[in-house]
Amino acid sequence: MGKLDIRNLRKVFEDDGGSIVAVDDLNIDIEDGEFLIFVGPSGCGKSTTLRCIAGLESATSGQIILDDTDITNKPPTDRDIAMVFQNYALYPHMTARDNIGFGLKMSTDMEKDEIRERVEQTAEMMGIEDLLDKKPGELSGGQQQRVALGRAIVREPSVFLMDEPLSNLDAKLRTTMRTELQDLQQQLGITTIYVTHDQTEAMTMGDRIAILNDGELQQLGTPLECYYEPTNRFVAGFIGSPSMNFFEVEYADGSLIHETFRYDLSRETSEELSVREGPLTLGVRPESIELASAGDTNAIEVPVVVTEPMGETTYVYVDIGDQQYTVTVGGDRIVEPGSTLHVVFPEDKMHLFDPDTGESLK
Ligand code: ATP
Repeated sequence: MGKLDIRNLRKVFEDDGGSIVAVDDLNIDIEDGEFLIFVGPSGCGKSTTLRCIAGLESATSGQIILDDTDITNKPPTDRDIAMVFQNYALYPHMTARDNIGFGLKMSTDMEKDEIRERVEQTAEMMGIEDLLDKKPGELSGGQQQRVALGRAIVREPSVFLMDEPLSNLDAKLRTTMRTELQDLQQQLGITTIYVTHDQTEAMTMGDRIAILNDGELQQLGTPLECYYEPTNRFVAGFIGSPSMNFFEVEYADGSLIHETFRYDLSRETSEELSVREGPLTLGVRPESIELASAGDTNAIEVPVVVTEPMGETTYVYVDIGDQQYTVTVGGDRIVEPGSTLHVVFPEDKMHLFDPDTGESLK
């Protein structure tokens, strides 16, 4: 089993310059067998949270409960949790075989033969049977990461913690390892928390994503919930690539008024918003913006500054007022810098936020 409850977790670092709140009252329930992704900007507290769960860092307050046992103050070796690091953290003087078997040798009274068998089974699962007698220095980055994963798997822990395990690999290997890791996690059914900076990993690998900012949980949901129903402006801007476009507008008389355009809303949306006359933040994803059809009264004419062909799509950077925004168009459409586009923001794909709190209103 591996049901993990993080309750009111708080971690404050004290140093000469004062105190830094790295994790602020974090509450997350992680289901047995779940694959949970932690994402957020640099310094938001992802690694610190992981290290508190692993026992490598002590919590300032709060609790970490694994299957009804409070493990908050247990030493790392008594937690039944295995961690995989970005830099692999293998012992350089030991062979892959000894690296994988080391934890079993040190923390169990397992017989030598059984350890050997478990190491070989794990190596087979990771596709590294032929590398067992090599030392880390003789292995590529991808092979070293497989050994590091093998070392975690061989212990059959209740929980895996992975801190950006693929970030040192080249783009192609990363893609292969991403799917392999997902398959492996499903096959083993071990509860996994995975820290990443990478949008694609966040959107595709996990059952749910926990988005952190400044040590606080911003949203916990499936990737599609976080993409389509962001709880606030931060999540809306963080999830999705290229990022959502934001416009500061005024809402009055059924219209959103920007310094350069006016958008007349449908009666239903204006009724929903009727109590909110005044400033609002409008959010529109680049991929939601459409090219306007003739006579569309909500169309905006925008000058094209730069284009970035990506293959299937092209990112078009346009000026609206004194800011630059992104529009995604089909890759087969020729758009020249210096030309103009007529675009519309489909109302059903608009997001509206409170400009003061950032909270989502629609
Ligand atoms: P990154 O994505 O860059 O790895 P992160 O989200 O994992 O960042 P943490 O490493 O958890 O962020 O850091 C959270 C905050 O705590 C940061 O402000 C960081 O400077 C601070 N911090 C982390 N470890 C320590 C420490 N040992 N002493 C003092 N401050 C620390």
